[in-house]
Amino acid sequence: MEAAAPKTPVLFVGHGSPMNGIETNAYSLAWEELGKQVARPKAVLCISAHWLTAGTFVHVSDAPKTIHDFWGFPKTLYEARYPCPGAPTVAKEIQSLITKTTVSPDTEWGLDHGAWTVLHHLFPAADVPVFQMSIDHTKPSEFHYQIGKELAALREQRVLIVGSGNIVHNLRVMRYDRDAKPYDWAIEFDELTRQLIVAGDHRSLIAYEKCGRAASLAVPTPDHYWPLLYTIALQDAGEPVSFPIEGIANGSISMRTIIIGGHDTSAHAPV
Ligand code: ZN
Repeated sequence: MEAAAPKTPVLFVGHGSPMNGIETNAYSLAWEELGKQVARPKAVLCISAHWLTAGTFVHVSDAPKTIHDFWGFPKTLYEARYPCPGAPTVAKEIQSLITKTTVSPDTEWGLDHGAWTVLHHLFPAADVPVFQMSIDHTKPSEFHYQIGKELAALREQRVLIVGSGNIVHNLRVMRYDRDAKPYDWAIEFDELTRQLIVAGDHRSLIAYEKCGRAASLAVPTPDHYWPLLYTIALQDAGEPVSFPIEGIANGSISMRTIIIGGHDTSAHAPV
């Protein structure tokens, strides 16, 4: 009897500064390493903190454009491109896979920096098809968790789901120096989140506001936290979880990366 193929892991990546897209630093090097460990997927679905919409949309395109959705950075960052193919067929499948809301097709978006700055290092050859699904900012945290659950079938189809945000993300008090001493509340909330993920306590992660002062400082707005909820929703009971990248940049940005599911190191060969 043939063994069932292992489910494709699910990632949450703390993306931090757009400069990570072109810099060689501890985080970008760790993303490169991570890309080598993850078996080559059929496609990547990225749910990024930077595509917030009223309603849920999926980008349907053969060639998603690189979006430079940031201001005041060096010219080289605006010149960077991630010329991967899109995955319009899988993107259209999502519209029927999700039943709790209407997922509308979009042809205007592409890849925002939450997606491409990370994927540029994960899959530097840009030969894995990528598409994004938006986050409906009018909905509560529970909604995002439930939509995440509905994506589970994609794991059986070698689609790598990547939530891209930051568990702790407070730009108002961030420090200029990337290696600045982290705020105590940043360490506290990042660690609390890690413990809740290890314990599989999804209810507490959805209701993060109840975690008090550290939560309100770490998550002043939910946009960078919500991608985490799509990711943990895909964690089966007892499924292993690991944290290949940890650290707090600029005092108030958690760079924690999470892998749900086992690594399959056997398959780097092209499809
Ligand atoms: Zn961001």
